[in-house]
Amino acid sequence: MKILIVEDEPKTGDYLKQGLTEAGMVVDLARDGWDGLHLACNIEAGKQAYDLLILDVMLPGLDGWQVLEGVRRAGMSMPVLFLTARDQVADRVKGLELGADDYLVKPFAFIELLARVRSLLRRGKSSIEPTLLKVADLELDLLSRRALRAGKRIDLTAKELLPRCGT
Ligand code: CA
Repeated sequence: MKILIVEDEPKTGDYLKQGLTEAGMVVDLARDGWDGLHLACNIEAGKQAYDLLILDVMLPGLDGWQVLEGVRRAGMSMPVLFLTARDQVADRVKGLELGADDYLVKPFAFIELLARVRSLLRRGKSSIEPTLLKVADLELDLLSRRALRAGKRIDLTAKELLPRCGT
């Protein structure tokens, strides 16, 4: 498993890199947002793409959100774990809209980070989610947000099309 950490705090970055390496992962560490985005998106020929990104939010150059936006714009869909010092609802919503997969609020225990990393890597293996759902004569296209019943368009409100959040 190959992981990219983007973290500007030297101690935290080194500590995470060492810990994840000892856990058997291949780890690269970038110290600022530009380097992180460059590493994540520019996979040299023959090199394996990253299975997971760990992004600090507050970074020099590009911040973590901008790195994530760039990565997603480049069409890369690996899971992303954010490290944030600010446990704010607005941050979480922003991250989720941009396609973040999980959060860890600093300070955190390494064992918790490792557990989340492993869980995201497991999920990442089956990350190609179907965008077209079919049940009997009902078809739902999650990308175009269209629903068809027996081949005929039916109108759904945005609310009906939003995935439930476990409540
Ligand atoms: Ca930082």
